[in-house]
Amino acid sequence: RAYNFNAGPAALPLEVLERAQAEFVDFRGTGMSIMEMSHRGKVYEEVHNEAESRLLSLLGDVKGYKVLFLQGGASTQFAMLPMNLLSQGKVASYVHSGSWADKAIKEAKLIGETQIVASSEANKFMSIPDLSGIQLSDQSAYLHVTSNETIEGTQYQVYPDTGNIPLIADMSSDILSREIDLNQFGLIYAGAQKNLGPSGVTIVIAREDLISESPKNIPTMMRYNTHLSNNSLYNTPPAFSVYMVNEVLKWIGEQGSLAGLEKINRKKAQLIYDTIDNSGGFYRGPVEAGSRSIMNVTFRLTNEELEKQFIKESEQEGFIGLKGHRSVGGLRASIYNAVPYESCKALTDFMLHFQKSNG
Ligand code: PLP
Repeated sequence: RAYNFNAGPAALPLEVLERAQAEFVDFRGTGMSIMEMSHRGKVYEEVHNEAESRLLSLLGDVKGYKVLFLQGGASTQFAMLPMNLLSQGKVASYVHSGSWADKAIKEAKLIGETQIVASSEANKFMSIPDLSGIQLSDQSAYLHVTSNETIEGTQYQVYPDTGNIPLIADMSSDILSREIDLNQFGLIYAGAQKNLGPSGVTIVIAREDLISESPKNIPTMMRYNTHLSNNSLYNTPPAFSVYMVNEVLKWIGEQGSLAGLEKINRKKAQLIYDTIDNSGGFYRGPVEAGSRSIMNVTFRLTNEELEKQFIKESEQEGFIGLKGHRSVGGLRASIYNAVPYESCKALTDFMLHFQKSNG
């Protein structure tokens, strides 16, 4: 298997891929692939419901929350969220922390009144803005944060206390990578293709009271309550992706749930950050120490030529996806849940070797 450091779609656990392979053609004795059967049938519905209950169970079975399996990616949530929750006379509050927050803000502005309550633009988004003591207006419909900025490599270490105002988080690139207190959030959304499964399904986890009523003047498919009242089976769901998510959730349980995964994830990130910090300046982590992501480790070399050479040589050694996002350059190792510690160790061995030859 390749050392896969892709930012997304990303590595999946080998055990999950192998299990899916084993039941690909004949799903549980039905003589059909799960892709070939009715989404209204008992067999598929069981998988669908299992995925929802596993997800909630991993998050502590907090009362009053529901899961939706949607399509259109997190990018569709950027619009669907304000369409549903930003009513007339209210304002949507956003923290501007980088490239993905920017996209969420732009979509919200198309829908209604939107304000940026904190931003780290002044330091090129190399940190998460300090939100301690943040004051939100009573007119605030919600506060939106981007839990992990996939491109810049920053991540919230603590989430703000928003009192009665719902906290909404785009967790596309760090969902289920660490323990969270679901009670803190009104709604979380994520595209599946980094930590949860293949692309094609988008997960929304929300307090039921927040999504049980949607405006009637928005299209049916864009209303949260359409999907809530139909158990995410209003239309044909992305059945294969939901099945894969269920398998990934099973695998997470086997890794010691979120506490177990968090421990491994922190160890993986620490290994790479230590290699960067102990390189005597050969490698440089541009993100402020208190905002470093444990999912996307971004780093630089002293010049772009050397970065190009690093990427070329790393590819020759079987490392995939280490090139930083085209908008920021540099290097990035995405080390989501399914990236094994051994791959991170192989990467740091390569980094040390590269430094020796070029330092
Ligand atoms: N939000 C974050 C933090 C992301 O990392 C991404 C994709 O990389 C998105 C949103 C967009 O997700 P999608 O491609 O599912 O629309």
